[in-house]
Amino acid sequence: MNRKDLLKLGLGSMGLAATTGLFHQAKASWNIYDAEKKQYVLPELPYAYDALEPHIDAQTMRLHHSIHHQSYVNGLNNALQKLEDARTSGDFSLVKHWSRELAFHGAGHLLHVIFWNTMAPATEGDNSPSDAALIAAMNDSFGSFDAFKKHFVAASSAVEGSGWGILAYEPIGNRLVILQAEKHQDLTQWTSVPLLALDVWEHAYYLKYQNRRAEYVNNWFNVINWTAVADNLKAVR
Ligand code: MN
Repeated sequence: MNRKDLLKLGLGSMGLAATTGLFHQAKASWNIYDAEKKQYVLPELPYAYDALEPHIDAQTMRLHHSIHHQSYVNGLNNALQKLEDARTSGDFSLVKHWSRELAFHGAGHLLHVIFWNTMAPATEGDNSPSDAALIAAMNDSFGSFDAFKKHFVAASSAVEGSGWGILAYEPIGNRLVILQAEKHQDLTQWTSVPLLALDVWEHAYYLKYQNRRAEYVNNWFNVINWTAVADNLKAVR
């Protein structure tokens, strides 16, 4: 990752602007969503397939982008359509399946967009951040760039099976964190920002509702603070 590309994600500015910056960039120039058709689309790469040689070969890039990434885009649009169909018909019998598909393909699409856009052709010499705010954030969260790099390499190399190594910004604690995503769908769509969260672990309702989780969920609607939800939406938009 080089400085310019991390800045693209808005990580240079920190604060909730980090998330907002990411969204603005994605909407403005990454071309990952067609607002008219309300469909996600495969974005063009910001460089040629052979631009990352010899570190990443052109054939891998071509297959990865045109086949693998495209299938996430298709799967995401399909899941959105199937969920719209369910809302129309009122038949939610497959909501579990399509929610998983939404998370799996959504995370796949959005993480690949970040992956492509946080790489650039190698330049000669040292490739480490030069932006003062990013360096300060790394020092604050990891101790140093070298410590970050060792940690990131170790975490990414140790991901079981397939997955991702991710440098992320945690806006509430204002910290950078390194995360492993073994199954990216298990960690939702990434880039998506929670506005409202309902705890459905048994400890949250079992004393009163036992196995009647749907009753708990329905009653929970009486205690939602919609002003807080609206504030959350305003903050990240
Ligand atoms: Mn991939």
